[in-house]
Amino acid sequence: MKSGQNAPFLSRVTRHASRVMDMTIRRRTRTIHKGAVPIGSGYPISVQSMTTTPTADVAATVAQTHELEALGCEIIRVAVPDRAAAEAIAAIRREIRIPLVADIHFSHRLALAAIEAGADAIRINPGNLKKPEHVREVVLAALDRGIPIRIGVNSGSIRPRNGLQVASVVGTRGSRVPGGPVPTDEPSVATTQGTDEPSVATTQEEADLAALMVERTMEYVHQFEDWGFRDIILSLKASDVLSTVEAYRAVAARCDYPLHLGVTAAGPPGIGTIKSAIALGILLNEGIGDTVRVSLTGPPHKEVEVAYDILASLGLRERRHPEIISCPTCGRCEIDLLALVEQVEEALRGAPPSLTVAVMGCVVNGPGEAADADIGVAGGKGVGYLFRKGKLLREVPADRLAEELAAEIAKLSTP
Ligand code: SF4
Repeated sequence: MKSGQNAPFLSRVTRHASRVMDMTIRRRTRTIHKGAVPIGSGYPISVQSMTTTPTADVAATVAQTHELEALGCEIIRVAVPDRAAAEAIAAIRREIRIPLVADIHFSHRLALAAIEAGADAIRINPGNLKKPEHVREVVLAALDRGIPIRIGVNSGSIRPRNGLQVASVVGTRGSRVPGGPVPTDEPSVATTQGTDEPSVATTQEEADLAALMVERTMEYVHQFEDWGFRDIILSLKASDVLSTVEAYRAVAARCDYPLHLGVTAAGPPGIGTIKSAIALGILLNEGIGDTVRVSLTGPPHKEVEVAYDILASLGLRERRHPEIISCPTCGRCEIDLLALVEQVEEALRGAPPSLTVAVMGCVVNGPGEAADADIGVAGGKGVGYLFRKGKLLREVPADRLAEELAAEIAKLSTP
């Protein structure tokens, strides 16, 4: 960091971000209701997650849903791998407040059972239901119940497996309504499966993958519309950022259905958060996206927290927790900043989300940035300088910094 410039810099960034978002025009969509939650351009971008419990275990699924709801989860999705799971939906539904989406693969009977059990919406990939008439049956049941369907086309359902080739969209356009594997006798791009050699065709392959996802999705959309069904939300998730962004951009230009954003199988929280933040950040900043699910390997509460962090970073939703501004430290730092940050994190539990606390390693930049926060500290030699609302409060011995900062946080947290 350069000396003396960061206090105004941070506030400039904040102001700049809000101006940028003010100028971002959200893509106009129709509004779809998942239970009581409206999804579409006129409404806040909602946050959803998926339970990791066996759905048939009603008590565990209800408990996890309540935990996620407390963190701000607004829509919950449950897997429906078997009839017991489908039947459990009725009991789960009675015990939770937020809308429940049933996630179904391969079996139209399970989709019908989930609808019958009272799911507020279902998610299917029509391509993995066996027959077009099965898809039609599910669509008509949803129409009858007045619930929406998310058409969720993932790259995994499009991408070739076991040496099959990626089929060019040119060869598949209009020929696949709905479902079934990509015909291998159609034109194809380079195949990288089964070889360790890096492929120069990767970019083209990813572009084709995104285009194929869009083509497939639009075929399903048109088929649903032909059946009189327009209560549709779309998702086109790839596990890589560029394909995901490309697919959502393209589909956003071709219809007015709300979009559920996500990167599929994004990975564990570290890399998964990065991939999700980049993909969703790009799209949301372009006004694309109406509801989000961050997909992370691990406890689902992290998904909800990351989703809100992404949305709050773009000024699209309120923060769910206080913000800590802390420096990376460098050779100028003369206090144990890492320990202090951990103590501040602890002190901030339950504090108002609007609170901003700065924890800076030295007085070179520290006072400027600390002055910009609600409360802040800048380290010195054996001491720290406490600031509150831009004013120097006092110098504090280093061994009392955490305690005094926690006391100031408590004062600010008291209404
Ligand atoms: Fe910046 Fe922190 Fe280094 Fe001070 S200690 S110059 S605030 S990185």
